[in-house]
Amino acid sequence: RQADVECRIVVLGSGPGGYTAAFRAADLGLDTVLIERYATLGGVCLNVGCIPSKALLHAAEVIDQASHASDYGVDFGAPTIDLDKLRGYKNKVVGQLTKGLTGMAKQRKVRVVTGEGLFVSPNEIEVTGADGKTQLVRFEQCIIAAGSQALKLPGFPWDDPRVMDSTDALELAETPKKLLVVGGGIIGLEMATVYHALGSEVTVVELADQLMPGADKDLVKPLADRLKKQGVSTHLKTKVVEAKAAKAGIEVTFDGESIPDTKIFDRVLVAVGRTPNGGKIAAGNAGVRVSERGFIAVDAQMRTNVPHIFAIGDLVGQPMLAHKATHEGKLAAEVAAGEKKEWVARVIPSVAYTDPEIAWVGITETEAKAKGLKVGVGKFPWAASGRAIGIGRTEGFTKLIFDEATHRIVGAGIVGVHAGDLIAEAALAIEMGAEVADIGHTIHPHPTLSESVAMAAEVFDGTITDLY
Ligand code: FAD
Repeated sequence: RQADVECRIVVLGSGPGGYTAAFRAADLGLDTVLIERYATLGGVCLNVGCIPSKALLHAAEVIDQASHASDYGVDFGAPTIDLDKLRGYKNKVVGQLTKGLTGMAKQRKVRVVTGEGLFVSPNEIEVTGADGKTQLVRFEQCIIAAGSQALKLPGFPWDDPRVMDSTDALELAETPKKLLVVGGGIIGLEMATVYHALGSEVTVVELADQLMPGADKDLVKPLADRLKKQGVSTHLKTKVVEAKAAKAGIEVTFDGESIPDTKIFDRVLVAVGRTPNGGKIAAGNAGVRVSERGFIAVDAQMRTNVPHIFAIGDLVGQPMLAHKATHEGKLAAEVAAGEKKEWVARVIPSVAYTDPEIAWVGITETEAKAKGLKVGVGKFPWAASGRAIGIGRTEGFTKLIFDEATHRIVGAGIVGVHAGDLIAEAALAIEMGAEVADIGHTIHPHPTLSESVAMAAEVFDGTITDLY
């Protein structure tokens, strides 16, 4: 069969991994095709992930700030929320970015083929459009970037619109009076923050013994305390046993210590993780091995077991984060173009854009302990930061974790407003092999929250002064 489209390299999926790979490949002079099943580029992150969630979290932050402004004599009164307008704002933000990608693809002469792509051979993908028409794309090299989707926990009545995954929750169909969030990880808690601010009575249940599993417990505490103060009820070591659609709501039965056996909710958001799309692209026809769970194994150059086919992003493994996908996308495109490169990044930061934000990078204290590593910790409480006091947010802290023998920074954790922005400095320090003193000796602007990073370095030295 004759190919409808021929190219040097094809990228399957246009999320942060895919569009970065396609743009990089084009910039390096490769004739590039980008296949995407949806009408807009950008994947989960731009359309139904990072970007819309942060637009809504911005609104939540403003609502919260306005409600606390009376502390310093400014009273805005109770907020009135126009859900249609808020949804419109979120859609506008998403639209601006996805349109931008379309423009950038055109500029680079990346040809976009719209439709669902399935491998038919090691050098061909058949793309079926919404109208059922097919196009055969023939390529010399391929980068698989088909991403992941929300895990639909079995046992929930998924055909009922009151049961939502994160994509549904971002639609903002209504503000439910009572919302249950199943899963106290990053996505669950970000959406809990949004819906609480909009006026829902929010309950969060989490199977593990702490919210945000993976982060150090001390980092999570200020968030847990604030949620409690706000009236968001959280239940750890709690499992949903059954969820039934009833007229009055979704009837949920729990197995847990501090929650009644059965409760009725107007809506339920299930945010228990994501599952890779590796098993849904007929990868076998190209000879690409896919694990039972749908992950595709790659080497340090992002190559699959088939040397001319690369894979990147959520479907190659944890952490499922946009900036990891982007980094991998760039790397795969460069290797495909003949550059002699491999994965050299030491760390990938994680951020929960909750209120307060929680950010961590490198090794956690919990991991260091489990591995028996000898580490020291410099910790600076924001209660001693002039800036944090000025904005009324002293619950945060910054900690640096360093190798006791070399004093090199190996990890960091920050909880507090803008923690996500602040953690980048620690990531740079780890990448550069910086010692704690390197940060301590760097002059940080005053009065900023970034000073807390320098102060954490100085607390370890025992040289903390009254800088604020
Ligand atoms: P994806 O973004 O999943 O994109 C894959 C693309 O491939 C999709 O567009 C899909 O339609 C397309 N595709 C799949 N199969 C086919 C096929 N057969 N044919 C054609 N096209 C196909 N990460 C962060 O770093 N920061 C955040 O703040 C953040 N917030 C998030 C909030 C939410 C609610 C969610 C759900 C996720 C969030 N993430 C965040 C995670 C982030 O969205 C993902 O890590 C990232 O999108 C992964 O990028 P990717 O390129 O691997 O794939």
